[in-house]
Amino acid sequence: MIIDFHTHSHASDGALAPAALLAEALAAGVEQFALTDHDTVAGYRALLEGEALPAGFHLLPGTELSSLWSGVGVHVVGLGMDIEHPALRAGLARLDNARRERAELIAERLAKRGMPGALAGAQAEAGDSQIGRPHFAAWMVAQGHVADANQAFDKYLGAGKPGDVKTCWPHMAEATGWIVAAGGVAVLAHPLKYKMTRVKLKRCLKDFMAAGGSAMEVYSGRQTREQTRALCEIVNEFGLLASAGSDFHAHWEYGPRLGFDAADLPMEVDLLTAERLGVV
Ligand code: AMP
Ligand code: MN
Ligand code: MN
Ligand code: MN
Repeated sequence: MIIDFHTHSHASDGALAPAALLAEALAAGVEQFALTDHDTVAGYRALLEGEALPAGFHLLPGTELSSLWSGVGVHVVGLGMDIEHPALRAGLARLDNARRERAELIAERLAKRGMPGALAGAQAEAGDSQIGRPHFAAWMVAQGHVADANQAFDKYLGAGKPGDVKTCWPHMAEATGWIVAAGGVAVLAHPLKYKMTRVKLKRCLKDFMAAGGSAMEVYSGRQTREQTRALCEIVNEFGLLASAGSDFHAHWEYGPRLGFDAADLPMEVDLLTAERLGVV
């Protein structure tokens, strides 16, 4: 069975419209799918209003919430939640505000480094999308401040750089709580991206579980089989559900493809599926 429970559309920082992304997922053979845009469910809402889905295909409600744990920006994917639940709606509204405030701070910091006008520039890049650092990166490339988006992150926006403003995010436990209150499963996203030691990751997982988190991604985009195996061992050790998602944003040469075949799991795990979530 092919699943993909972590993807982005242009409702956040992905390149494709929600419907175009869904069509590509279907073409890639994905049978169970979640659109998990950063801090919004707008793209998922658009899919619900769009064309009917093929029989047997499962579209799960999803989002990817920005949060902070012990000074690290960690992402919590929510799956299968009631998107109208007041706790989730209030949480998403808060994150929406946080993103706007953060954009102003990022722009101030870039202005001090000889790049004035970044706020209006990034807002124009974002349009109706949830504004994020990739929109600043796109503007910086267009202005000729950097050669490409990678350089924008390496020099100005990535972890530890001036444009890496994290203070506005809610604590991981709070973001997790919103998803759980709304009846969803909270998933710790792409654990390898935080570059934590194994000991620190396990400490993070303990706090995550105490807050109601019940799953972790064992597969995220390009990853070696050995990395997937190590993450499977951790979910089994902690009694967590295992989730899998490409974290697809756009087609590019080195980027991940849509879909993960459950048959490729290196060991037995309690795999999160639509059936397991009760979304059938
Ligand atoms: P934000 O949501 O504003 O915190 O921005 C984080 C997003 O930037 C991630 O979800 C990625 O899509 C993107 N990103 C992170 N690092 C890089 C990088 N080195 N190059 C390009 N995009 C990146
Ligand atoms: Mn992103
Ligand atoms: Mn993420
Ligand atoms: Mn993501």
